[in-house]
Amino acid sequence: MTEHEPASQRTTMKRGTNRAVYSPDEIRAVLQAGMIAHVGVTTEDGPIVLPMAYGLRGDQILVHGSVANAMLRGGRGIDVCITVTIVDGLVVARSPLHNSMNYRSVVIRGLASPITDPADQADALKVINDHLALIWDTARAPSESDYKQTLVLSVPLAEASAKIRDGDPIDDDDDIAGPCWAGVLPLTSTWGNPIDSADLRDGIQPPTAVNTLSGSDAHG
Ligand SMILES: Cc1cc2nc3c(=O)[nH]c(=O)nc-3n(C[C@H](O)[C@H](O)[C@H](O)COP(=O)(O)OP(=O)(O)OC[C@H]3O[C@@H](n4cnc5c(N)ncnc54)[C@H](O)[C@@H]3O)c2cc1C
Repeated sequence: MTEHEPASQRTTMKRGTNRAVYSPDEIRAVLQAGMIAHVGVTTEDGPIVLPMAYGLRGDQILVHGSVANAMLRGGRGIDVCITVTIVDGLVVARSPLHNSMNYRSVVIRGLASPITDPADQADALKVINDHLALIWDTARAPSESDYKQTLVLSVPLAEASAKIRDGDPIDDDDDIAGPCWAGVLPLTSTWGNPIDSADLRDGIQPPTAVNTLSGSDAHG
């Protein structure tokens, strides 16, 4: 499926190689369309994987959270794994063990570096905020204390792979001759109409970015 070489031995797909994608542009396209990153870290308590928002800046993926977040604290300066998954459909086969999903997923392995420079941290937080919608500039500016409470980690995209499944179930000839239905149930997620916060003061309208997103495909 891909003309590009894997970045490393550990990102080389051994199974489902027809679905392997190593093109940086295609990997970035999945990351741009995705919404949630599952961040996996080995901590003193054992491994933990947490879902998080993320952003893309240059050749890095950025995640953030509270300075109290044990996983992020434990992830500073160590090798982590970040996975982004988009489900595009349910693949219904004639045999239950052939049921599957159509999907786009990316796995990133790499060293997580904390961003400590204040200007760099502010820019990184804007990037994470604006990943889904450009809502940073229309909100109030974060305070000094907001920044102090927030930890940002940056992981290079250099060691990444994507896996993309698209299409029909794969059934045996005997099953195809049988009576069971097979096919794909597409999954689409869309944003709804904005709902004003119950304590919103009169006369305040949603920002343009929210109105633009409303009604659009969530995984474009
Ligand atoms: C929504 C979804 C549901 C899935 N459900 C199942 C399931 O129920 N059972 C199951 O066995 N598999 C499932 N998969 C596939 C699964 O993610 C693995 O690709 C597969 O199990 C092979 O794992 P492996 O360790 O043998 O792969 P290997 O080919 O040995 O993996 C080697 C390397 O390839 C890369 N890689 C592997 N998988 C992915 C991936 N999905 N995306 C990007 N890079 C990858 C990683 O860098 C990994 O280190 C699912 C995938 C998705 C996206």
